[in-house]
Amino acid sequence: PPPPPHTLRARRLRVAYGGFTALDGVDVDVLPGRVSAVVGPNGAGKSTLFHCLAGTLRPDQGSVRLGERDVTRLSAHARTRLGVARTFQQLAVFPSLTVAENVRVGAEQGWVADPGATERALRLFGLDGPMRASPAAGLPTGTLRRVELARAFAGSPRVLLLDEPSAGLDTGEVAALARVLRALAADGTALLVVEHDLDLVADLADVVHVMTAGRIVTSGPADQVLRTLDPRDTAVE
Ligand code: ADP
Ligand code: MG
Repeated sequence: PPPPPHTLRARRLRVAYGGFTALDGVDVDVLPGRVSAVVGPNGAGKSTLFHCLAGTLRPDQGSVRLGERDVTRLSAHARTRLGVARTFQQLAVFPSLTVAENVRVGAEQGWVADPGATERALRLFGLDGPMRASPAAGLPTGTLRRVELARAFAGSPRVLLLDEPSAGLDTGEVAALARVLRALAADGTALLVVEHDLDLVADLADVVHVMTAGRIVTSGPADQVLRTLDPRDTAVE
């Protein structure tokens, strides 16, 4: 059967940690063919929102839908099976597996069984040279981040959630990352990035959401939102 429309839609999300409200009525759409970015200062609630979308945290109130389906109570793993992949702000590769084996894990956990997916992902992220046979342990951070991205991509996701994808990358790697992510969006993937590198956001995003103190205070086309943004509003983590 044809896949459901892969739009991830959060409505009125509310999360409190004890008495502290970390998310307070957040709405966000992650749309096929678009790159949406969430920016905001440290503590604004970006990672909390990310966890609600990925399925690693259940909101106290509100809903997350994937197409027509309510996924609010589904685990991250179950969402991955439905086509929602994510990367971690803290790298989470398997150190004793090789680069290629790490990426294959992503292909196996993914949305569709696609025998070519591992090789395509390795190629797309420049990991198809001799490095593919290296154990992940000891590789530079920038390379590990590409391994993690390739692993998420190898599951053929329709929605890709990226928490601080530029962390640990050098300028050249960030530029390459932007090119790859734009190509994925052009291919119809729905992307959401939580990112503090505003140059990357400007380069990459179609839509920008600015978060402060648990709320989205501004949303709109990237060029408009970024033009009016005070850099102090998104102080680097
Ligand atoms: P951001 O990613 O924008 O920096 P977070 O979503 O990580 O923000 O955190 C939002 C707020 O919630 C912060 O004030 C943070 O200290 C608090 N917070 C996050 N996780 C927890 C937790 N597990 N328990 C208590 N407070 C938390
Ligand atoms: Mg965070």
